[in-house]
Amino acid sequence: MLANPNMPLEIDYSEVDGKSYRCIDGCALCCLCQPELLPTEEERFRKDPRFADAIADRHISPDVTGAALKLKGAHGACYFLTDKRCRIYNDRPHYCRSFPINVFVGWRIQLNINLSCRGIGLEGESLGGVSRAIIADYGEGRLSSELESAKRVFTEFVKNTRDTWVAQSFSSVRGAGHSLSGELVDELGLSRVLAYAEHGRTKQNAPANEIAKIVRRTEPDADLEERALIDGTELFDLPDLSLLPIYIDDKNDWKIFRLVGKEIVGYSLSEDGRTQEFSRTNP
Ligand code: SF4
Ligand code: SF4
Repeated sequence: MLANPNMPLEIDYSEVDGKSYRCIDGCALCCLCQPELLPTEEERFRKDPRFADAIADRHISPDVTGAALKLKGAHGACYFLTDKRCRIYNDRPHYCRSFPINVFVGWRIQLNINLSCRGIGLEGESLGGVSRAIIADYGEGRLSSELESAKRVFTEFVKNTRDTWVAQSFSSVRGAGHSLSGELVDELGLSRVLAYAEHGRTKQNAPANEIAKIVRRTEPDADLEERALIDGTELFDLPDLSLLPIYIDDKNDWKIFRLVGKEIVGYSLSEDGRTQEFSRTNP
């Protein structure tokens, strides 16, 4: 069903309300994510000689097709970061102003928190207040049209799941997950859930207790340890350093980890994208 233009937009603030954050001086972790530019910002940046050179030819993520700012080196920090300070703070893009809030558009609009931000939970700004300002900035018109196109994609997805006889209601899946949650901490239970996720079949629109029953009867995965090793290291097994997750230590130094052969190699990352190895671990 598409959005009714006469109805107020349904916006879910439940994840952000009641929470606060404070930006930590010297962190700048979010300046390692390549900032995207809204069409109006791209126009403003292209026209301004102070900013025009900062626009990248392409985003590091192939899924992002719009304009974005350059990174220093192939995988360093944003072009405008110097000594962990933003050189265009008052002109920074909407993307940077919104962090650590993400606006997720699916069946409804949902405000999510990017949990990689270390300032979350510290006393400071209200995340609910920041989120409402972000939504006001987007404007109802733009949000409504994004919501409509997202709903079209989701509707098609649900239709495909029905056509292939694998559709389950959200509440049944949630109910089954809830009933199995105690078993997820047990090796055998976890092994069954993983095997079911990979090969399991349940007839369409099954009730929660039936899904849970079938999971409990599933033949467990034969080699949980091997599987854990593969699943636990695939995140670090990427050829492009710029796509690896970045962590921050208690001294605000940035770290990346990469699977090299059979070891996880840790590197310190500098603003200009240089890396220096500091650890090797057997996963
Ligand atoms: S990640 Fe969070 S704490 Fe760190 S600079 Fe960004 S907003 Fe501030
Ligand atoms: S524009 Fe400024 S705030 Fe945004 S990523 Fe670059 S340095 Fe950080």
